Amino acid sequence: MSPAPSIPSFEQGPIRPPSEAHSLLVRVIRNCTWNRCTFCPVYKGTKSSQRPLEDVLADVEAMAAAAAVLRAEGRGALHGGRLPQEAFQVMLFLHGGERHVFLQDADPLAVRPEKLAAVIARVRERFPTVDRVTTYGRASTLARRTAAQLGLLREAGLTRVHLGLESGADEVLMAIDKGCTSGDLIAAGTNAVQAGLELCFYLMPGLGGREQATAHVAGSARVIRAVATAAPAERPLVVRLRTAAVVPGTPLAARQAAGEFVLPDDVEVAQELRDLLEELGDARLELRSDHALNLLPGLEGSLPVDRERLLGMLDGFLALPREQQARFAVGARLGLFGEIGDLDDPVRTARLESQFVGYEQPDADELLAAATALRARFI
Ligand code: SF4
Repeated sequence: MSPAPSIPSFEQGPIRPPSEAHSLLVRVIRNCTWNRCTFCPVYKGTKSSQRPLEDVLADVEAMAAAAAVLRAEGRGALHGGRLPQEAFQVMLFLHGGERHVFLQDADPLAVRPEKLAAVIARVRERFPTVDRVTTYGRASTLARRTAAQLGLLREAGLTRVHLGLESGADEVLMAIDKGCTSGDLIAAGTNAVQAGLELCFYLMPGLGGREQATAHVAGSARVIRAVATAAPAERPLVVRLRTAAVVPGTPLAARQAAGEFVLPDDVEVAQELRDLLEELGDARLELRSDHALNLLPGLEGSLPVDRERLLGMLDGFLALPREQQARFAVGARLGLFGEIGDLDDPVRTARLESQFVGYEQPDADELLAAATALRARFI
């Protein structure tokens, strides 16, 4: 009997949001069309290029073939040499119930809407159990898309857009070279939610640096409030927190080295978040803290219902003696602490203290600086 034919390889981009861990990843466009944001290391040194429709459709067919083999033969099929390495993500997709698909890379919405709709339609055809198709999108692209174009994508099966808000303050957007204004962000967000799409904004507390922290909070609250108001009750805006980090080799790291940017520490970021919650007022949205970059994973809920609880959580941290704040920040970055009450856990605190054995005891400022620097490890 001749051996079964091997499944052709297919492309996969470098990143996806954490919420897409079990998604099929379909690469529609390569890298980032903008590629200038000062904090972002992901596509630096690469060029963006569109992929021919037939290549993307061929990838979808290859993924469908890989899925069929994995369903029939199980995980062991990954080691038989017939499946490309990329099929590991297909296995995660099967594990997740074959429900979610994520379009890559940074801005698939920059692709002609008819072409993108054809990709989504093929995905839906080959994977009929899928109930969520999501994509990254840049604000400047989404702000230009008409209701008819977004309607076409929604009809084809697009359900959600992930959009890097980063900040809603024009001076911060300018400083990080985001390539869009707060007006673009409001237009982009409003276009998405009014077209019947779910929208996730990614907000980066701390990205204004110490100097622009106040403007960062005020501008971000203004954009979030505007888009949250435009979103229907059944599909509220989702805001996901990504605490700012400085990654070596980025333009932001060069600004930091030149003394032009100071990254706020965890105490300052907690104060920013407290101010943000105050400024959001009665805005209706879902707040998520789904990344290891964030100090408090529990800082999530439905606003405004959960606002007082979340303010209480931040106040609990801000009221700690500075020494305790610093120890909590380091413990959180080392994965030892998840909530403030963990400071009372003798096992966890002993594990933290064991990190300092043999060293001169660092003071609170040194510990906070260490916790701030550790953020870059999570990018
Ligand atoms: S648009 Fe997104 S992927 Fe592109 S440089 Fe900015 S943050 Fe990075």
